[in-house]
Parts: sequence; C-alpha cells; structure tokens
Amino acid sequence: MISKLRQLTEQEVSQISIKNILLDFMTAFREDRSLQRESRVHRLELELDQLRVAGPRAVGVHHPSSLHLGSNKPAVCPRRLAYGVRKQMSIFGPVDPRVYNIFEVGHDAGAKYQGWLSYLYGEDFYPEVTVHIPELNVYGHCDGVIHYPINGEKVKIGLELKTINLRGFENDIKNRPTAKHVDQGALYMVGLDLAAMVFLYECKNTQELKEFVLTRDDVAKRWAHIQQRLEHVNEHLDAGTLPRIRAQSWCHTCPFKAECKPFRAKQAANLDRLKKTARRK
Ligand code: SF4
Repeated sequence: MISKLRQLTEQEVSQISIKNILLDFMTAFREDRSLQRESRVHRLELELDQLRVAGPRAVGVHHPSSLHLGSNKPAVCPRRLAYGVRKQMSIFGPVDPRVYNIFEVGHDAGAKYQGWLSYLYGEDFYPEVTVHIPELNVYGHCDGVIHYPINGEKVKIGLELKTINLRGFENDIKNRPTAKHVDQGALYMVGLDLAAMVFLYECKNTQELKEFVLTRDDVAKRWAHIQQRLEHVNEHLDAGTLPRIRAQSWCHTCPFKAECKPFRAKQAANLDRLKKTARRK
C-alpha cells in the first residue's frame, strides 16, 4: 500500500505550512474586521451542514482516532483492542462529564480551523473525509484534505487538528506528534493516498500553534508495526477468539478487566511455574 503514496522532496515538504496560512489569515483580521465576521458565519454554516449529514459512529471497526497501537514496547494490549471492537466500546471505558467537556473544546477548535480553511481554499478543502481500509477493518474520518499548491501542482495532503494542554504542548509533542497520532496519520495517508499529513496542535492554555508535517518516510517507519498489530487483532476477531492476556499496570484502568481477569491468569501462570520448578527439584 505504501508504494501508492507519492513521495515529496524535502524542498516540496518545506513549502507546506497550514500554520502560517492560518496565522496570516488571523493577522488580516486586524486590517479587516468584516473578514473575521464573514469567515465566522462561513464556519458556522459549514459546521451545521456537517452536523445535519453526520451519521452514527460506525461499529465493529477500528477507528484511527481512538486506536492505541502502542510503541514497539509492550505498552499496549491487543486483547483490549479486540474487546473494544467486539463490544463496540471505547478501549478507555466510560468517561466522566469533564472529559466530554474536553472533547467539546477540541471539537470547537477543530471546527474553527476547518471553517477558516474552507473559507480560504474553497473547493480545494474537504472537511471530515471518510477513510476506509477494508483489509485492516479500519474506518474513520480525517479532519480535512487539502489540494495544496506546491510548485504549481495541487498535491493531496491530509490535516488533523488537535488541542493539547500546556504540559503536553511543551513535552509530549516537543519535536514530533505522539506515536498514537503518527499511527492515526499513517492510516489516513494510506487510506486516502495522501502525499503528506499535517498535524496542527493548539495549546489550550495559550492558543499557540505547533505544526508537524508527516511524510511518506515517516509513515513507512511505522507501517509494518501498525499492519501487524491490526492483522493480529483481526485474525482473533474473525476466529471468535481473543489475543492472549498481557497483565500489566494499565489493566487496572481497563474497562474489560472484570471479564478478562488478567491477574487471576497471571497468578495461575505463576503457580504453574512454581509447581513445575518444585517437581524438577
Ligand atoms: S484487563 Fe489487561 S490483559 Fe485484559 S484486556 Fe484489559 S489490558 Fe488487556
């Protein structure tokens, strides 16, 4: 699938900056307050249109935005991902009202940038683009796709809009997006055949912006890992089985721990090992 992606040169990548386009746009508000008003009306209309056609969240699939495939360390549990798809539940479990409030803040910030980009790019900006990779059972929506002008040619690039608190802004995304976001971007790039993927982060404390441009090479580094993890989970889903238990500290916050009983399995394994050692003596 990777070979389908168009490889941009370093010089071409250096021309991509959604952040600068948005900063120039906001700077123009100083000169022309009607631009601010007009673009706000545009973005509210766009959001209303999107809400009117939005269907229910797809079930029985992997959503790129809520997948946690982990780094190469065993800090992720494929069994948890399988439970999530099978039970049509978030792998993070039910959230409290404060978290819903955080989601709303993130949504509003995303809608603001989508509206401004739609105002600026017109028919060259597509918000909420459906991404479907049937062979990996992946289905979701990318925040935006832009036909971005590079050297006189329009290049298809994706956009993901994120909000983050100051601590995360300064530490978690110091030099690059988080592994979870890179994987999300990789699925969008492959699913939509994008030449690049832009991550735009807004700091919730300061409204400062940070941007990263993900290229085909960045995706290629993660792709084998993403594919292998999803195929492993999908094979179990197809067979009606579950990946093996990986008892670890995050089991304590897993919404499926009552059914999975990870520590009971760990105790049984320890007991089994002790018995075998005792018999050998
Ligand atoms: S309880 Fe632990 S082992 Fe079981 S699914 Fe959750 S994270 Fe995985």
